[in-house]
Amino acid sequence: MTTTPTNLDALINAFAGMEIITDSTQVAKLSQDYHTFSPVLVPKLAGKVGDIVVRPANEQEVLKVAATCAKYRVPVTVRGAGTGNYGQCVPLHGGVIVDMTRMQEIPWVKPGVARVEAGVKLAALDKKAREIGWEMRMAPSTYRTATIGGFIAGGSGGIGSIQYGLLGDRGNILALRVVTLEENPRIIELRGDDVQKVNHAWGINGIITQVEIPLGPAYPWAEVIVTFDDFITAAKFGQYLGDADGIIKKLISVFAAPIPQYFTALRQYIPEGTHAVFLLIAEPSLEFLPGLVQQYGGQITYEKPAQEAGKGVNLAEFTWNHTTLHARTVDTSITYLQSMFPTDSNLQLLEEMYHHFGDEAMMHVEFMRVKGRATPGALQLVRYTTEERLNEIIHYLEAQGVAIANPHTYIIEDGGRKVIDPEQLKFKEMVDPYGLMNPGKSKVLKFKIPN
Ligand SMILES: Cc1cc2nc3c(=O)[nH]c(=O)nc-3n(C[C@H](O)[C@H](O)[C@H](O)COP(=O)(O)OP(=O)(O)OC[C@H]3O[C@@H](n4cnc5c(N)ncnc54)[C@H](O)[C@@H]3O)c2cc1C
Repeated sequence: MTTTPTNLDALINAFAGMEIITDSTQVAKLSQDYHTFSPVLVPKLAGKVGDIVVRPANEQEVLKVAATCAKYRVPVTVRGAGTGNYGQCVPLHGGVIVDMTRMQEIPWVKPGVARVEAGVKLAALDKKAREIGWEMRMAPSTYRTATIGGFIAGGSGGIGSIQYGLLGDRGNILALRVVTLEENPRIIELRGDDVQKVNHAWGINGIITQVEIPLGPAYPWAEVIVTFDDFITAAKFGQYLGDADGIIKKLISVFAAPIPQYFTALRQYIPEGTHAVFLLIAEPSLEFLPGLVQQYGGQITYEKPAQEAGKGVNLAEFTWNHTTLHARTVDTSITYLQSMFPTDSNLQLLEEMYHHFGDEAMMHVEFMRVKGRATPGALQLVRYTTEERLNEIIHYLEAQGVAIANPHTYIIEDGGRKVIDPEQLKFKEMVDPYGLMNPGKSKVLKFKIPN
């Protein structure tokens, strides 16, 4: 442990005037995230907790926290809403949890761009942007609770990615402002391609305090469910729609049977044994849908106009990793994978893998735009038996040409970035010279604190 009773007292003194939490139950709660989706991670991260939580209200307080932690060489785990899936904000070496959720200011929103503090919830930003006819380009299915800082440091894409690609795609983050972990912390503003030094860095490359994010035009989004008798036709319908440039959409999710049966609130719209496609589609594009559905032999079973959005069930909250959440409320033995299939309008490999794994890795596809083309990503639901079998499935998929971002590891490199970007490493040395930020999450970064 690096936080001794003596320096814990010193920390409490240094944090005077700021909101802190020392109650062990609360601290333990704020040391958690959603790694519980992984039966592999749960035992590995059991009992990992911070020593104290500090909740800075503004950048000045973040500077004070950074200076204090650097002075006492205490590990720092930054967190937003704690909805990350890989133990991203579970502290492996105790120390200070920096909870950013009080930093909720939105300095400005202009046509096409917004400047926000890191703790702003994505839904709050979206609401504000919609007041002037704009919206977030993409958001995870956790948009109601997740923060913008957490999305950038820990997420990758989501609802909207069929139109705009992934968060890491050039142009999807305009600027980031970060505080360094030094005795005299600095504020650094990164713009343009430099934002990649901090994007998806799991909170190891400085504390993000502000974000400048591009927006997209806000459409009235209709929610639609289409069902099909066979999976691959459903997927090909999704592919066609994804490639149809004139039809504006925000979401194309395809669920092989029996996945829709886990969606208790929607079961009445999805006959047992059928495969479902969930869509968010701009209302002006809606009139093209029935003909296309007919062409593919599907049935529209549910349609909710945009003006009803927010009332009753919200289709988006059954997609992306919310699918796993719903399945696990019915069967806790279910876990998941994160895959990217090659771009191929025939969906050949997707079809092969669907048949190969059958019910063991149930196919859940999220279409996204990759290099300008609709491409199937998948968050397969896996009926978990053993870690060995899970790894076998992963290795088989990789051998066939499916890219896997493994959600069953808390090591950044193992999760899909096989190596950390050298630019991120160089930046790391500058902003976190003592290696205090989220230590233990990278293979190449050594935890430098003396015992
Ligand atoms: C049901 C479910 C569905 C999900 N769906 C999606 C999805 O569709 N797409 C997707 O990409 N993800 C998804 N996720 C993962 C997660 O919800 C998102 O990535 C979310 O944006 C994380 O935001 P957060 O505020 O909860 O971040 P946290 O979990 O609190 O943090 C995530 C990472 O960011 C770091 N971090 C947080 N704030 C800062 C900051 N200010 N400065 C520096 N580092 C920081 C943390 O240290 C941690 O490493 C899902 C998770 C669940 C449980």
